[in-house]
Amino acid sequence: MVATTLLDWQTKLRTGGLTATEAITTALDRLERLEPRLNAITQVNRDLALSAARAADERLLRGDRGCMLGIPVVVKDNINLKGMGSSQGSAISGSYQSPYNATVIQRLVDAGAVPLAKANMDEFAMGSSGEYSALGVTRNPWDNSRVPGGSSSGAVAAVSAGYAPYSLGTDTGGSVRLPAGFCGVSALRPTYGVLSRYGVMAMASSLDQIGPIAVSAKDIAAGLSVMTGRDPHDSTSLDLPDASRLPELQASKLKGLRIGLPKEYFTEGLSPAVKDVLETALGRLASEGAEVVEVSLPHSRFAIDTYYLINTSEVSSNLSRFDGVRFGARKASEDLHRMISQTRDEGFGSEAKRRILLGAFCLSKGYYEAFYLKALKVRTLITRDFQEAFKKVDVIATPLSPSTAFPIGSKTASPLEMYLADVFTVTMALAALPALAIPAGFVEGLPVGIQFVGPSLSDVRLLEMGAAFQELTDHHLQQPNLDF
Ligand code: GLN
Repeated sequence: MVATTLLDWQTKLRTGGLTATEAITTALDRLERLEPRLNAITQVNRDLALSAARAADERLLRGDRGCMLGIPVVVKDNINLKGMGSSQGSAISGSYQSPYNATVIQRLVDAGAVPLAKANMDEFAMGSSGEYSALGVTRNPWDNSRVPGGSSSGAVAAVSAGYAPYSLGTDTGGSVRLPAGFCGVSALRPTYGVLSRYGVMAMASSLDQIGPIAVSAKDIAAGLSVMTGRDPHDSTSLDLPDASRLPELQASKLKGLRIGLPKEYFTEGLSPAVKDVLETALGRLASEGAEVVEVSLPHSRFAIDTYYLINTSEVSSNLSRFDGVRFGARKASEDLHRMISQTRDEGFGSEAKRRILLGAFCLSKGYYEAFYLKALKVRTLITRDFQEAFKKVDVIATPLSPSTAFPIGSKTASPLEMYLADVFTVTMALAALPALAIPAGFVEGLPVGIQFVGPSLSDVRLLEMGAAFQELTDHHLQQPNLDF
């Protein structure tokens, strides 16, 4: 069974066409057959998955109609799932086992979803390609010689390859949206706070958000409906307005919708073929009565610098907990300082080390004001640009990436080039806004995504708009050919 939508799974499970136990067994078999090729998964726990499936079957038999009941879910390896490891794509995690469920996982499990597997990722969610994992490169299901995008490489590849109709990634600067574009699936970076971060390993806390990944906007909404809502364990968590519309999400009307195109995002650097796809998609929306107008986000040109200053500063602080003392890998030594430095030296990959060094520099005396504090000020200017634009338009449309998925190995020699892959996704994270990535077409057989950004807490409306686009198009229903 190939990646049908979550709503298809739901129908089959509800009408008795399929039991959850059968569904999970089939999903696990597919995963095991395709994994040698894709390397999207770090760990599977068959017993855990099958016992959750049996529990879901009992609830289905009793007439429970919860929207996530019996639905298999793949979870990025930086989100705690009790009874399984959380490698974070890093050797330093050693044999760490999660002692508790992250809030989002607990809520999914309570709703009857079935945790299927943990997913590969760039180390500590640092990366744009899925190549920076200590557990090996993940491959794009559409073309195995190309990257799936990162850092939620495995979580996105898993949905694209039909392992499961739903997965969870994290998005600090684009990590669910960029790979969703590269692999032809849908993904949401919610407004900061819409999903609790309790139980998620922190990379850059002021930017990190969990991002659901699925075939369609409606599917994303179903999972979001059981996960969102304030959590006493995360003081930044929020109640999402209109959340009651999520379980049965309906497409919104496009007539009269004002879509803003930021002129700074459609210029140099964007591949002409990708631009063509985006223009066709926008033309389709316009033909339904949407009004497409130009807007400006002038401070976006500072976004990459701002993002990487803030990101590395927060990384250097968050990653200081990995010292080998309480958990994870440890290089034993008689001397405490030596134990810590050897553990960190051997456990961290080169991108993690680069960011720790850069961040420690940005935060050091004399440089704090010049770098970190200045970046915070520019972050405010970037946020204000969006606020100004949203006085004129309901939603903003942008590319997701300058090109389609690039060949494995083509950017690893240049960290800067890798950072530039995020040029269209970091501003929304800096401004804490919701952003939806959805498939918009293809260039030479490779998927191209489009991004829709809304004002703060407009997540439900954004998904309703995405659903409207997906009623007009079928790009999201295309599947890679994995029959080999
Ligand atoms: N590629 C960006 C980075 O490396 C974004 C990562 C993310 O969103 N987790 O920081």
